[in-house]
Amino acid sequence: MMDIIGHIRERRDITREELETLLATKEEETVRQLRKAARETADKAYGKKIFMRGLIEISSYCKNDCLYCGLRRSNRTAVRYRLSDDDIYSCCENGYGLGFRTFVLQGGEDGHFDDERMCRIVSTIRERYPDCAITLSLGERSRESYRALYNAGANRYLLRHETASPEHYALLHPAEMSWQHRMDCLQELKETGYQVGCGFMVGSPYQTFDTLHADLQFIRSFGPQMVGIGPFIPAHDTPFAEMPNGSVETTLRLLAIIRLLLPEVLLPATTALGTLHPQGRELGIQFGANVVMPNLSPLEHRKDYAIYDHKICTGEEAAECRACTEFRIRNIGYETVVDRGDHCSFKGEGL
Ligand code: SF4
Repeated sequence: MMDIIGHIRERRDITREELETLLATKEEETVRQLRKAARETADKAYGKKIFMRGLIEISSYCKNDCLYCGLRRSNRTAVRYRLSDDDIYSCCENGYGLGFRTFVLQGGEDGHFDDERMCRIVSTIRERYPDCAITLSLGERSRESYRALYNAGANRYLLRHETASPEHYALLHPAEMSWQHRMDCLQELKETGYQVGCGFMVGSPYQTFDTLHADLQFIRSFGPQMVGIGPFIPAHDTPFAEMPNGSVETTLRLLAIIRLLLPEVLLPATTALGTLHPQGRELGIQFGANVVMPNLSPLEHRKDYAIYDHKICTGEEAAECRACTEFRIRNIGYETVVDRGDHCSFKGEGL
């Protein structure tokens, strides 16, 4: 079993059989070795530093109808809100004071945030905080839109690919959404010059070892700067409301495997992991993650960005989230840093 971990490390590749073996094993020593190898790899690339991103959830409106998401347009019980430009700037001001040097603007696919509005917001943040990175997570847009936002000052873009299998994608999304279009968007983001993040849910309905292996192969070949994975958690009033949660254990092992496949990748310990396990984010770091994303969104809207149920950290002010994150990370021997936290290959670019 230890050979498998050594081989993955050396080859930066994993076979379908190796993946199944590592995800299915009950041998504690193997899991310990996997965790150790992942952590050593992360430490070599980034030391004991854990990068913080300040998350600002700008809109809970979405034109899409992804079957797994609480913000899908068919969910009549979802509470909808949009932040104003000034709301967003105050989140940034608050976040900057708390030591955040990356702002992540995330939202559903909401036509209100068209290119004109988004470019204005991005260029204002860029002007006010020239030392900060601006990350966008606003779904599928046109190549021209990605280019305009990049030119306005955005540096990074997160767009989960969700699954590398077109058949699996079709089981998670309505017919009008296209796997190929999602893949094209990722390619366009990369070509535009963004640091790009892809990712998927662990334990999503109909996921198999084959689809997971395809995900890892896609990640290897695409070479993203960031990979966001977290356990699937069902959302009420969606078609998958009664589906079981994804597994924390499998998520941790996959984090470690992704760290071994892409040693320098920026890998968040996600809120979904923290939602399913009280120490989920700390465990994520111990299995190779090196990014956390405390919430900077205004408190009154926090609980309404409900992509899944029972999401944690919806009741704390940004300063409390920041302090809690720092405390948790220090407790396990790591340190949060006031730093943009770029991927090694992008150091100093895009300022
Ligand atoms: S996953 Fe994203 S695109 Fe899909 S419905 Fe939810 S917010 Fe919209």
